[in-house]
Amino acid sequence: MRLKNGETLLNWPLALHVLTAGYYYNSGGLHQAIDLRTNQDGSIVKPVYAAEDGTVDQVQAWDGRTKTGMQSYGNMVRIRHADYGGKSLQTRYAHLSSYCVKQGEQVREGQLIGYTGQTGNVYGAHLHFEVIWGGVRRNPLVWLDDDFTTATGKEYTYGAGEHAVARPAEEEKPMEQNPMQRLCIVGEDADIRAKAEALGLSVQTVTATLIGPTSEGDAMTLWAMALVCGKEYFSRYPEEG
Ligand SMILES: [Zn+2]
Repeated sequence: MRLKNGETLLNWPLALHVLTAGYYYNSGGLHQAIDLRTNQDGSIVKPVYAAEDGTVDQVQAWDGRTKTGMQSYGNMVRIRHADYGGKSLQTRYAHLSSYCVKQGEQVREGQLIGYTGQTGNVYGAHLHFEVIWGGVRRNPLVWLDDDFTTATGKEYTYGAGEHAVARPAEEEKPMEQNPMQRLCIVGEDADIRAKAEALGLSVQTVTATLIGPTSEGDAMTLWAMALVCGKEYFSRYPEEG
């Protein structure tokens, strides 16, 4: 979100904001990203949300074994946002269990793009989140507000000249009401796929099943099926147009 004062405030990519690693690791090594806790309530699979409006400019499916090079990110999504200060601005989400966007797809801030996991080079489940400005990885915490805690319980110390983005008081503009939705279901379900196809809806499987665009009515029909068979379901923002 672009603020009136010219700053960019990114949306937290997870509902839970607990930092397990900062821009520098506790060991002092350069991480150039933040890691966020995903393990809560007995599950490591949590929805991941776009940090700002943008276009998906890279997706990567993990090959299931390689832990070096780009494959170290595992299942990964990168989004290009509007330029900031004359430079490109991108965010990256790594180690996902699945994603439900395609390269070239437009996404809205807060839109579901996938689910956390432990793919690629990981010792445990977490979300690896990068902010890339002008092609260089920056400290994501200076693009986010200060609404977070740390896994160690110690207060985070910003680097010299760094600070959180202040969230303006008047924001929280109401979400646009648009009845068209998209559904994203973890994994495959033959019954839901058959029903969606019978309703004439587009169905794709990337690493998750993507259905839509769909009307509110069709979305509710499929949601009811998903609940019955225990599938995780999340509605999505509409596509443009
Ligand atoms: Zn990381």
